[in-house]
Amino acid sequence: MIKYDVAICGYGPVGSVCAILLAQYGYKVIVIDKNIGPSPTARAINTDGEQLRVFDKFNIAKTIVENSNQIERVIFSKPNLDAIQTLEQPQEESEMGWPNQVLFYQPELESFIREKISSFKNIDVIEDCELIDFKDKKNSVLLNCIKQKKLFNIESTFLIGCDGASSFIRKKLNIELDDFGYNQKWLVCDAHIVKKIELKNELIQVCDPKRPTTFLRGRGEHLRFEFKVMPNDNLNHLKKEDTIWELLSPWINKNNSLLERADIYNFHACIANKWNQNNIFLAGDSAHQMPPFMGAGMGTGIRDVANLSWKIDLFLRNRSTKSIFNTYQKERYPHAKWSIGQTVTIGEIIEGFCAAEEGKQFKPTRRSYDVKFPHIPNGIYSNPEDKITGLPIPQPILFHDKERVRLDTLIKSKFAIISNLNEFKVSKKAKQIIEKLDIKLIFMDENDDPDNRMSKIFKLYEYILVRPDLYVYGGSDKKSLSKMIKSLETSFYLI
Ligand SMILES: Cc1cc2nc3c(=O)[nH]c(=O)nc-3n(C[C@H](O)[C@H](O)[C@H](O)COP(=O)(O)OP(=O)(O)OC[C@H]3O[C@@H](n4cnc5c(N)ncnc54)[C@H](O)[C@@H]3O)c2cc1C
Repeated sequence: MIKYDVAICGYGPVGSVCAILLAQYGYKVIVIDKNIGPSPTARAINTDGEQLRVFDKFNIAKTIVENSNQIERVIFSKPNLDAIQTLEQPQEESEMGWPNQVLFYQPELESFIREKISSFKNIDVIEDCELIDFKDKKNSVLLNCIKQKKLFNIESTFLIGCDGASSFIRKKLNIELDDFGYNQKWLVCDAHIVKKIELKNELIQVCDPKRPTTFLRGRGEHLRFEFKVMPNDNLNHLKKEDTIWELLSPWINKNNSLLERADIYNFHACIANKWNQNNIFLAGDSAHQMPPFMGAGMGTGIRDVANLSWKIDLFLRNRSTKSIFNTYQKERYPHAKWSIGQTVTIGEIIEGFCAAEEGKQFKPTRRSYDVKFPHIPNGIYSNPEDKITGLPIPQPILFHDKERVRLDTLIKSKFAIISNLNEFKVSKKAKQIIEKLDIKLIFMDENDDPDNRMSKIFKLYEYILVRPDLYVYGGSDKKSLSKMIKSLETSFYLI
């Protein structure tokens, strides 16, 4: 029996991205899924600049952007579609070095990821294969799987449960979900325009107390609609094609569009109270679920695996003890919890505007789409009040060997120290750590960073230390640089 370094249960977007991130470090990875082929329908539709940087680690970000749409504005509207609140969306490249938000078509996105997976000799994929049991031994996990009625075992050092909202792994480990008490049913429809029609490039949250509705102009001719299921709805009637076309009638009709699918989803808001147990981890929807108002569910999962993959690398390369895995939940849980809360807030704002339509008092007290993600609360060195530490580092363009390159191309999923000074003196101990972790040293000069993305950082710090997941660990001046580097020992349990 081949022994794998990492077994991933679930070949959805989170499991597949996780497989590539680990395979890029050279590990032998196996992915299993009980289904065959990528998701035939879209669920996720929106991704952001930070996730594009993860997709760029394996060169598909450009393809995603080329096959995407950027909406111009988000509107909370009255039932007749008159705007109540309009939020213009930035169209220019964000400081992440990529567009702020783009809309993609999930079956296409998954095909880009799977094509990349097929180029890795160290990733094995078994579809039509269900994980039915597993045993966590001291130094590995034994998976019991079934494929076409045949039982077989897989042995792996680690098992990552990217097995979605009803995760078998989470349930088998008896891990509870903390519930935010948000449970709503929504009818989700995807359609494609087939004749030229005038539809604005917008996201509209229609705050109609009789039926809150979301309209979103996707990539190409793809359109997304979401209709809240109301207490008096008869579900069989609601799912009928005629009823659906009636709901779609403010935007499209049978003559100009094709209905791809319409399904009823339960929108939940919950988070697993434990994210890892010895050699087993949860990531993606198995660890957290949120309503899709902010389009952040998949993105939260991608942040999970970007956080976990380099920690697995440090452990497997004998650089860290197993205690490094304690940092996974400490860093990711509060961040994911914030995303769930923020998504629920958008839902509450929609409900509030609906109540106002019925004559009740409502003025939103919290912000909706224009909020920034918070810093990670752990695994950082400097004070996150600087609005730099614990956040993804901005991505400047640098001139390297006379070529324009994005910063991430030089970081290469390693730790990196970046400075605009031309000197670098550190203690013997700090040098040893730099060697042990293969920390990249990146020096910028006056030709670099034409968009001044790093200027706020260099006003405060002379050196900045970035983690492999592109989050800023901390900043320092010349005097305390060695101390910052040395602190990695305790922060990440270095051996
Ligand atoms: C209507 C809607 C709109 C959304 N919009 C967005 C959006 O715009 N942006 C965004 O970021 N997110 C969005 N989301 C959320 C996003 O779709 C999910 O967060 C994301 O798909 C989760 O990915 P995952 O890989 O964790 O899980 P999944 O995609 O659910 O994949 C889990 C996989 O595990 C497999 N599996 C499960 N159990 C087993 C087993 N025992 N053995 C083998 N295989 C198993 C399943 O077959 C499945 O393929 C939306 C969700 C919905 C419902």
